[in-house]
Amino acid sequence: MNRSGGDADVTRAAMLAHLGTSGGASRADLARALGLSPALVSQTVKQLMAEGLVRELETSTSSGGRPGRLLGVASTALRSVGLKVSHDHVALVETELDGSVVRAVTLRFDAASVTFLSDLVGLVRAFIGDGRDEPILGIGVGVPGAVDATGTGVVDSGMLGWRQAPLGALMARELDVPVLVENNVNALAVAERLYGAGREHENFLVITIGEGVGAGVVVGGEVVRGSRGGAGEIGHITALSDGPLCTCGKRGCIEALAGEKALLGKARGAGVVPAGGEMAQLQRAADSGNPNARAIYALAASKLGEVVASLVQFIDPEVVIISGEGTKAWTHWSIPFEQALRAGITVDRRAIPVIVEDWEDEAWARGAAALVASTPFDVAGTFGEQGRRVRARLMTGSSATEAAS
Ligand SMILES: [Zn+2]
Repeated sequence: MNRSGGDADVTRAAMLAHLGTSGGASRADLARALGLSPALVSQTVKQLMAEGLVRELETSTSSGGRPGRLLGVASTALRSVGLKVSHDHVALVETELDGSVVRAVTLRFDAASVTFLSDLVGLVRAFIGDGRDEPILGIGVGVPGAVDATGTGVVDSGMLGWRQAPLGALMARELDVPVLVENNVNALAVAERLYGAGREHENFLVITIGEGVGAGVVVGGEVVRGSRGGAGEIGHITALSDGPLCTCGKRGCIEALAGEKALLGKARGAGVVPAGGEMAQLQRAADSGNPNARAIYALAASKLGEVVASLVQFIDPEVVIISGEGTKAWTHWSIPFEQALRAGITVDRRAIPVIVEDWEDEAWARGAAALVASTPFDVAGTFGEQGRRVRARLMTGSSATEAAS
């Protein structure tokens, strides 16, 4: 998150966002985390305190020498809304700047309906209306697909059946709130960088398993998006030549070998679960020692390990984070995955840590909300005008709230 500090507004917004997302920091912490000079930090803190946006929390005793005063944002009413869009439901959360979830709901939604755009706007409007009567910073939207031009949020998603859906621009106009749309695995990687294991690392991979197989690639502290937002779509990397047909039309994609549909198809074919059976039944069969069930997981896991090994060799990350609803059954993936991973990378990198995250249902939506909190750090300006609007709200919304209280 290094920056030169050339743009005063961006510096102010980044300092506010860092204080909010970290839950409090000293002037020295701010200078270090944001790559700013101590003089610039002192001067900006003075201004922000005079405007009532930043306040002193308590004396930090952790650092040796002169104790640094711990600073925080003056208002905790700086909230974001995150939503994860799936083909048959949406998950919505409201979060504070530090990533804590204030409330969460899951609602039915039909992505194939001709009115899907207005349906989605209606659900979000109702969710915001049910909350506290305070302005929100912005809405983050995570979708399973590629998001071209994050500033306007145009979505292509095979899983949702959307082609060039103008989701971001429409929602921002209808709801009059900044809207940031991003691939949901990239959003999860942003959340990891702000609040999770990625806090300690500038270079890491987030691999997700579940209905699809995906990756978020973070290099030098930034999510790699590619030319059209499709970087990290590893689900369609060929893992087995002449393998099973994938939804994308190719054969042997890793998603067609290790995605939920593939696992269920095999389990039904082998009689491990009945026709119409579900993932939970496959997992129970494996838990109780059914060798066919275990073999189904083992093959998927070793193919995934091979693919991730190639990525590790290519990207040279410090750590690999595994997430997604598929991790509920990780105990059956773990050993064959690790074996294939370590066997597929050179000796110098073989000790790379693999962190498996506890999976909560609302994690995707929380990741989408993190897009909003991360915007002030977005030096590259990925979210364009929407990012600028979030920064403006960060600096005026809190003072308005402060003045009202
Ligand atoms: Zn494919």
